[in-house]
Amino acid sequence: MEKKLQDEVLSRRTFAIISHPDAGKTTLTEKLLLFGGAIRDAGTVKAKKTGKFATSDWMEIEKQRGISVTSSVMQFDYDGFRVNILDTPGHQDFSEDTYRTLTAVDSAVMIIDSAKGIEEQTLKLFKVCRMRGIPIFTFINKLDRQGKAPLELLAELEEVMGIESYPMNWPIGMGKEFLGIYDRFYNRIEQFRVDDDKKYIPLNEDGEIEGDHPLKISGLYDQTLEEIMLLNEAGNEFSPERLRDGSVTPVFFGSALTTFGVQTFLETYLKFAPSPQPRNSTDGEIDPLSESFSGFIFKIQANMNPAHRDRIAFLRICSGKFERGMTVNLPRAGKSIKLTQSTQFMADDRSTVDEAVSGDIIGLYDPGTYQIGDTLTVGKDNFQFERLPQFTPELFVRVSAKNVMKQKHFQKGIQQLVQEGAIQLFKTVKTDDYYLGAVGQLQFEVFEHRMRNEYNTEVIMERLGSKITRWVDGETVDENLSSSRSILVRDRFDKYAFLFENDFALRWFTDKNPSVKLYNPMDQH
Ligand code: GDP
Repeated sequence: MEKKLQDEVLSRRTFAIISHPDAGKTTLTEKLLLFGGAIRDAGTVKAKKTGKFATSDWMEIEKQRGISVTSSVMQFDYDGFRVNILDTPGHQDFSEDTYRTLTAVDSAVMIIDSAKGIEEQTLKLFKVCRMRGIPIFTFINKLDRQGKAPLELLAELEEVMGIESYPMNWPIGMGKEFLGIYDRFYNRIEQFRVDDDKKYIPLNEDGEIEGDHPLKISGLYDQTLEEIMLLNEAGNEFSPERLRDGSVTPVFFGSALTTFGVQTFLETYLKFAPSPQPRNSTDGEIDPLSESFSGFIFKIQANMNPAHRDRIAFLRICSGKFERGMTVNLPRAGKSIKLTQSTQFMADDRSTVDEAVSGDIIGLYDPGTYQIGDTLTVGKDNFQFERLPQFTPELFVRVSAKNVMKQKHFQKGIQQLVQEGAIQLFKTVKTDDYYLGAVGQLQFEVFEHRMRNEYNTEVIMERLGSKITRWVDGETVDENLSSSRSILVRDRFDKYAFLFENDFALRWFTDKNPSVKLYNPMDQH
């Protein structure tokens, strides 16, 4: 690959922000885009976040989806880097697509609300990053408010997530008494709410302020020095290797709302975040610096408007260079396709993309050609990237056709939507019922809507609530173990799984049946 192109690839940093709703993802994204000059006013990203979501109203879904399209990928340049931020929709928009987005990034930034600590959705997304071996950076937000003690937050990271933490900086007080951060990496103190020329105080070799300084009078300064000493002596070790293999997460403290600690975070992040990484394929690892173009589709966004059946397929480029109008192979279908319509996603609007390289994400207009997980290659290349992982569904419905005369349409619709990755299908072993599994309620709504509009079939969906899915390790299982609290099903690859009523039912089952080996694909790393 020519040097100029190599440099372009090496300048890419592609990440997703993982967080629980309200931790500050939108605010932080906005501030990062402001630094990158991609938007002029704070509020641009915020304005795209819609208010209430009416589940029955598909216009609302469309609006929501349309909005997620434009803000799905945001790109900006900073200090010689090109940064791609991928959105991970949360709230009612949470779906398997949220998880799949994490297959298209090289690192993740986890935001934690300092008052709340680790929350449910953050933990779920964290597990997917773990499973994928994605390096994780942590930003502890809202230090301008009273929150949990920093040491307590670090202990939570270790206990709940099982990851070591390395604070790159450390808060000096918090809430009303928040004075700033002690920056271990840059060996300086960054003061909160002071004039720009006073913002940074350099530290001497011992990590202390030289001479007199008003900050030294505060008891918080001494307390911080003590805590730093403790971290230096008893804290975890940081190295780029430990970050990359997922043993340690560098932790940053700040306040996105007041734009405090954000630039320091960004600059340190860029120093350590990996450039586009190689990906496994049927031809072995594909080097992001190799000449010929390749990529994979990690998400397909259906247009919910029945008048427009077109969809957008999101492609992560894994090698070579994309040029508009190029002809690519779709090895799964043995087809070749000319890519004339491509879209790049920006904070403000969509624009046509003519060129993109490894690490970049582009949208391809999809008249129904692509499936999630599809590989695109060029020339003689016919390899396929590793299959995308299976995510563990948590919500279930029993589904059937309203009109028995429409069985054929029903079957066709279900098979296609399942294959496309919109939803997961299970069949009960005893009764041959169809169960649909999802990670978010939205997936059922999209399914119902698309069955009606694309396959002309009304469906009946009976809520079964949440269940714990555990796959059976092995080809056989005693079918009599199926009960109402541990329902035995087969997935679309015919693998056995149990759907447990709750934690208790799972534990009871494993105690009684030690010979049945169960696993959760999302616990494996
Ligand atoms: P998201 O749901 O994760 O995208 O969260 P938002 O960015 O929308 O933030 C949720 C709420 O927290 C909003 O009211 C923000 O103004 C507020 N918020 C975000 N960051 C901070 C912060 O650093 N300090 C304080 N006090 N509030 C914040």
